[in-house]
Amino acid sequence: MRVLLFALVCCLMTNHTLAAAPATAVTRLVIHGGAGTLDPARSSPRIDAGYEQALAAALAAGHAVLAGGGSSVDAVVAAIAVMEDSPLFNAGRGAVFSHEGHNELDASIMDGANRAAGAVAAVRTIRNPVRAATAVMRDGVHVMLLGAGAEEFARAQGLEIVDPSWFRSEERWRQLQKARAAQRVLRDHDAGPVAAYAPDDKRGTVGAVALDRHGNLAAGTSTGGLTNKRWGRIGDSPVIGAGTWADNRTVAVSATGTGEMFIRSAAAHQVAALVGLAGMSPAQAADATLAEVAEIGGDGGLIVLDAHGDFAMRFNTRGMYRGTVGSDGRARVGIYGGEEKPVRLPALR
Ligand code: ASP
Repeated sequence: MRVLLFALVCCLMTNHTLAAAPATAVTRLVIHGGAGTLDPARSSPRIDAGYEQALAAALAAGHAVLAGGGSSVDAVVAAIAVMEDSPLFNAGRGAVFSHEGHNELDASIMDGANRAAGAVAAVRTIRNPVRAATAVMRDGVHVMLLGAGAEEFARAQGLEIVDPSWFRSEERWRQLQKARAAQRVLRDHDAGPVAAYAPDDKRGTVGAVALDRHGNLAAGTSTGGLTNKRWGRIGDSPVIGAGTWADNRTVAVSATGTGEMFIRSAAAHQVAALVGLAGMSPAQAADATLAEVAEIGGDGGLIVLDAHGDFAMRFNTRGMYRGTVGSDGRARVGIYGGEEKPVRLPALR
């Protein structure tokens, strides 16, 4: 039986994981802006429209790169940088506060053509952490840099360094005060690891996966982590294989959700393994992985894209900010469950 299983896995690997990426004129960009207990009753059409416009702006930036023949890595960076510069998302400018009142940012990127990867964690002064992660990847020596060292590296690479106040918003500051109070309550009753996640948590990590004209996949993720995080906590977003994965032979993946459980599930890599070894579609692999994350008490969402342009935007929370655009420039965005709706891409400034 074992031998048979082994033979089956080897056969599937030959068919899927070892197949070369097709050279294709098809391009695709898929993005997310975080998953959580998004509730239409606590939002408004005006607020939702603001998110939809921000998603459309990110799609426009990434699509322009792909339409111009640029690489999937550059498209991922362009789309994520727009969301990092928007105060609406928990990444870059809209990042949440740590317990000590800092904005500590994590980001990662992976190139599916050669499985090169880069990441930064707990940085406080790099305007666009995704650009720093990309610089780490292109430098090629290390994969993950932390804190002050990552900032020194980014400065040496000529990346934009900002005063920490660039990331501060009053809304996020209020969220920290609320979370601090709630955590005291939670600690009195339940000191378990899941207690760190407030039940009305609305997370806003951002991510993108792209397929370029040359058949290359890339994935990236950027976040401020969790409100009220402590002790130098780092989630899944900068962890290659947990929050981000890309491999031309299978899929590109970016995750959002309860980071600890995504790390414990090796979620992004798990999606790729299910596609490559078990022959699942991107949607099936995303659902199976989210089910595993749920089994250990986590939730969130995954965006997945393969080298043929097949993609999935799946979540087991009430909502996930998300969007996609294909080679024809037709874009769709969504926030809650159900179909994504068509959206016009704004002209680039
Ligand atoms: N996964 C992120 C983290 O745990 C949070 C999120 O996706 O909103 O840091």
